[in-house]
This record gives sequence, C-alpha cells and structure tokens, in this order.
Amino acid sequence: MGEELQEKLFNKKENGWESVNQSEKKEIFELSKNYMDFLNNAKTEREFIKQARKLANENGYKDIIEFETLKPGDRIYFVNRDKSMYLAIIGEDTIENGMHIIGSHVDSPRLDLKPNPLYEDSGFAYFKTHYYGGIKKYQWTTIPLSLHGVIVKTNGEKIEVNVGENENDPVFTITDLLPHLAQEQMEKKLKEGINGEDLNLLIGSIPYTDEKVREKVKLNILNILYQKYGIIEMDLASSELELVPAFRARSLGFDESMVVAYGQDDKVCAYTSLAAMMELKQVKNTAICILSDKEEIGSMGNTGMESHMFDFFISEILNKLGINKPNLLDKVFCFSKMLSSDVDAGFDPIYSSVSDKTNAGFLGKGIALEKYTGARGKSGASDANAEYVAWVRNVLEKNNIKYQLTELGKVDIGGGGTIAYILANKGTDVIDCGVPVLSMHAPYEVTSKYDIYSAYKTYKAFWEE
Ligand code: MN
Ligand code: MN
Repeated sequence: MGEELQEKLFNKKENGWESVNQSEKKEIFELSKNYMDFLNNAKTEREFIKQARKLANENGYKDIIEFETLKPGDRIYFVNRDKSMYLAIIGEDTIENGMHIIGSHVDSPRLDLKPNPLYEDSGFAYFKTHYYGGIKKYQWTTIPLSLHGVIVKTNGEKIEVNVGENENDPVFTITDLLPHLAQEQMEKKLKEGINGEDLNLLIGSIPYTDEKVREKVKLNILNILYQKYGIIEMDLASSELELVPAFRARSLGFDESMVVAYGQDDKVCAYTSLAAMMELKQVKNTAICILSDKEEIGSMGNTGMESHMFDFFISEILNKLGINKPNLLDKVFCFSKMLSSDVDAGFDPIYSSVSDKTNAGFLGKGIALEKYTGARGKSGASDANAEYVAWVRNVLEKNNIKYQLTELGKVDIGGGGTIAYILANKGTDVIDCGVPVLSMHAPYEVTSKYDIYSAYKTYKAFWEE
C-alpha cells in the first residue's frame, strides 16, 4: 500500500542514466561529441558567433537583410557586431499571439588584455590583463592560456588572432609563487592570495640584439608581432584580445559520462539551443534563439541583452511581415514565452554545505528549472509565475523529459542572475532553464552528458509546442 502510494505521490528525482537504453545512450554521446567539437572552435563570443553563423547558413538560415518581406517558414538571423546573434523561424500562427524565445549567452569569464598591455620587467615581457566576469583569481595562474580575438587598425583592417590552440603553437601562462617562499601569501584570505594587478601574462624573454636600445625584450616581442600581424604597439589599443584556457573539451570519467571544458557557462545552453534550432521544421509560434554577449558583466552595452538591438530585430520582423503598427512590439513581448537558458549550480558533495539538498540541481537528473535566481530574499530575481511553470512542466512531461526544480544554493549563502529579468520586464513569461555545472566559472567546468541531451530535447520541445 505505502509503496504504491509513494510511487504515485512522490517527486522521485531519479538519476536519468538509470532509464537510458542503448540507442538513447548512443544519441546522448553523439550530441556531446558534436558539442565538444564545436566548443573547441568556439571559446570566445566572436568565435561562437562565427561558428553559429556558419551552421545557420548550412541549415537554410539567411541574414534578415536579404529579405524584403517575410512569411511563415522563413529562417532568418541577425548578427550584432560579430558578438551576439538572434535567429528566428517565422511561425504559422500570427506573431501577435507571441513568440517562443530561448535565450542564452556566449561570453564566459576570462582575462582580457588591458588597453596598454605590453611591458618589460627584469628580462621578461608581459601582457597586463583585466579579468572579465566573476573569477577566482588563483585558478587562472599556472595553467596554459591561449590568446584569442581581434586587432583593428585605423584603416579598418581587422586581424584575427588565435595563438595557443594548435598543437604547434606556443602557449602563455601566469606564474605563481613557489611554496617554499609563499609563507606570507599562504596566510592571506583565498580571495586576496592573487592580486588582480598581478595577473600578468608571461609572453617572452629573448632580447633584441642591439646595444643601443632599451627594453630589448619588449622590442623583440613587438618586432615579432609586427612581422606576424603588421601591427605596432598603439594598434593594441583598438583590440579585443582575450585569454582563455588552452585546454580542449574532453570526456570525463572512466564511464565518459561527463564533459569537462572551458566556457560551458553558458555555451552548453547556447550550443544545445542552437543545435535544436537547426533541426526545427515548421513551428506554430515564431521561434527565436538568442545568443547574447556580456551576460557575465551585467548584460550592458550594445551586444548585451539590455541593449535595444533585440527590440530592433523583432521590429524588423514585424516590418517585413507587413503588420507593424504602434505598440505592436510591446504586445508581442507581453504574449511571448521564454526559456532563459543558462546553467545552474550543480550539487557538489565536496561542498555540500552551500546547497539545500532538497532544492539543489543534480548532475544527471535532467534539465534544471529555476523559478527564480537573485540573492538575499530573491532580490533582483524575476520570479516565474506558477501558471507559467505549470505550462512548462506540461511540455516537458508530454515529451518524457526529466526535469528538476532547483535553487542556486542555500538561502543567504550567495546568489546570481541571468538574462531572465530583462525579457520578463518587457512582459514576457520567463523561467530559467539550463544544465547543472560543477566548478562554474573555473577554467575547467563539468557537466553531465545526460543533462546536455536533456537540454537539447527541452529546447526542441518548447519551440515545437
Ligand atoms: Mn551563465
Ligand atoms: Mn556565469
């Protein structure tokens, strides 16, 4: 009796792997392999957008600029300054009844070069950095780093830089103190152990051979950069150069059940939503996929979700559908539904004290829905309405997708945010919905292949609803 009742009434929170059959397991591993291959060529927002655009073109999507008018079934995209992108499939139903939006971000925590990065000290040349996003600074020393980005010259010429990914490339690193002399450093608080101003990248040590010049090592580096890219020191001022871990994405564990890689926050949700978008055929409601930038530093700026670029894209759709009129944009947002697809803090048994085990997201238990994020009494959160949570649950249950309702850590322990509130403030129904991650924001983050697959299925089902 009790057993039957329990079976009927309990939220079972099963491990997803237990109900996976051989053919599903194959699909799960295949998707993760494609994901890892994609990640290895998309470590920065610019690289992600470049790959996404290529994939979109291969799957019949075209730049919205190429369309004079739009009709149901059209597959379009808009790329914003090479760093963010919106894709859409025009739905069969009128767009006035709302869109189905999935929004992730493609920027990840990293180290950016300062505007005047290059200096020489005691026979070494260095690049100064300014970290981007929430990092634990000590994690970024003594690991191999690669340099990615662009340098733009005053004549408009744009030079793409990628050093440290190819087997034959050199890599870079930030040094740390040997334990023998670290007595003082080791007494410090963890967050003060490595100073932000000390995150200087070691980039060379051979002096230029000329008796008469000073700063010979710096000169030699500039000469190498001049030979390779045709740039002078001042050109570094108009560059966006980012340091990211030189590690490759790999399968993790004897059972290969997990993925370990840099930048999974939030490229795991960006990739799975993009992959689902490529598979879509006809949709009832217009399907929108957002790949945004600058989430890690507050979504500000003209490539961040707070900018009006997204409104502009939707207005262009309304214009080209030939139905635009005053306030229609507001109406469309108010009738839309959104999954804010961002990663969740996975429960880590080694650090269990920060999580409420009853409300934590577990790796391998499927997609995590976060009704709210925020900190200290839900402050700053967009709290999803019960009605909308029920609607999303229904979509997931109809499609046999395992899901968990989660919170980001214990009450008053910390907190965080996503782009959810931005669309919610426009009137859209939004819930956070993503993959649980271990070691979030670290150079090497861990996810479960089961959850990656679960995210892909969720996003596809949401758009097809
Ligand atoms: Mn994120
Ligand atoms: Mn993040």
